[in-house]
Parts: sequence; structure tokens; C-alpha cells
Amino acid sequence: MSMIFKGVVLVALFLLSACMGPDRSSRLVVIDAGHGGLDCGAKCKGQLEKDAVLQIAKKVAKEFRSEGYRVYLTRRNDRFLTLGQRTRIADKKDADVFISIHANAIANKERFDIVEGIETYFLQKTRDAKSQKIAARENASVLQGTDALSQDVIIDSVLNGPKIIESNKLAIDVQRNIMKRVKGKYPDAKDGGVRPAPFYVLVGASRPSILVEVGYITNPKERKRLFDEDYQERIAEGIVEGVNRYLDNRQRELEI
Ligand SMILES: [Zn+2]
Repeated sequence: MSMIFKGVVLVALFLLSACMGPDRSSRLVVIDAGHGGLDCGAKCKGQLEKDAVLQIAKKVAKEFRSEGYRVYLTRRNDRFLTLGQRTRIADKKDADVFISIHANAIANKERFDIVEGIETYFLQKTRDAKSQKIAARENASVLQGTDALSQDVIIDSVLNGPKIIESNKLAIDVQRNIMKRVKGKYPDAKDGGVRPAPFYVLVGASRPSILVEVGYITNPKERKRLFDEDYQERIAEGIVEGVNRYLDNRQRELEI
């Protein structure tokens, strides 16, 4: 009797777990909302990057939790964190992935209407002038006091590891899934692709790390979307689906 009962229970548990999908409770992601406090990030028409990215980061965290992940946000409110504080959190928590969320901007007002798009970056030196410019703007707030030489030394120290390849893979999965979600409602959304760039917020984290520029705050159409709940939701769903895909693939590779 008890053997039969045990058997029934085991079959029931097996069926239940198969229905519920993979167990993701052992997975931990660190979500970093860019800027904060005195550092507003990019701003345009009174709207601030630090506010949009915090709203989005909270939605990303909620979405990850609903998929069973453990989640840690580097900031939950309007406060400034140094570069070291952000990535140290990911290492201390032993996160599987580190995702920094930002909104993009350009300086040339004549091109505000033209320049738009969603882009995902992974840490790499690059000759591409556009990526260098974006990284320089995002780095400005975190690099005070660090000279150019030590910046290069920091970057060189992390560029040769397998982390770069893994971060590149993660960036591809996240970018693809964000575009799929966003284009479902906004077919005109521009895919800016996956790019390498020397973002210092990605240097210190010794795990797959990416930085997502979720749109240009200087572009009128995208600025409106950046503060739109539905757009934010789609970005969040795309990020989570991309990370699911990346981690499931990595798990499969380890099992072979
Ligand atoms: Zn930023």
C-alpha cells in the first residue's frame, strides 16, 4: 500500500514539475538601474534617465521573480552608488548574470528626431566611434579621479577571460528577445543591435555582464515610450526571456 502511495506521489511530483517548467530558484540575477541621486544620467525636456531606468529595473526584477529567480537590485530608490558598489554587489551575491539598465542620448540637437533604437552592450574595447562616445558619456559619472592609464589597465585585466564570450552570448539573447517583445506593439522600434563598448560598470563584475540602452531619451518618440508602462513592461519581459534562453542554453552545454 505504502509503496503504491509513494509511487503515486512521485509520479504526481514529476508531472507537476514538468508542468511548472524549469526550477529557477537557484538562479540569481543582479539588476542595476543606472545613475541615481545627484547623477541624473541623460536628461531631456525635464525628464531624467535615472527615473526611467529605475522604473524599468523594478519591472525587470518583478518579472524575474515571477519566473522563480532570486533577484537583487543595486538600488531601489533615487540614490547614487559608485561603480565599485554596483559590481561588488554582483560578486558578493555570486550572481549568474549582471544587467545594467540605461537610456541613451546624443548631444547634437539637430539629430534628436533621427537617432533612435535599442542597443545591448558587452564589455570590449572597440574602434567604433559611436560606441566609444556612448561609453564615454556613461562612464563620466563613475570615473572621477581615475586617470586614463589606469582605466586601460582595468579593462585589459578583464578582456581575456571567457566572460567576454559569455557576455556576448547573453547580449545577443537579450537583444533578440527585447526586440521581439517591443516590436509586438511598436513595429517601428529600431534594433540597434549588440555592440562591444568599454563600459566601466561592466569591468568589475566577474560574471556574464551586459548593459542595455533601452532607447534614446533625446528622441521625442522614444522619450515618451521610456516612461510608458506598456513599453517598460515589454522591455522587462524581453530581458527576462533573453536571460532564460541564455541560462537554459548554458545549462544544456554543461550537461553534454
Ligand atoms: Zn546611463
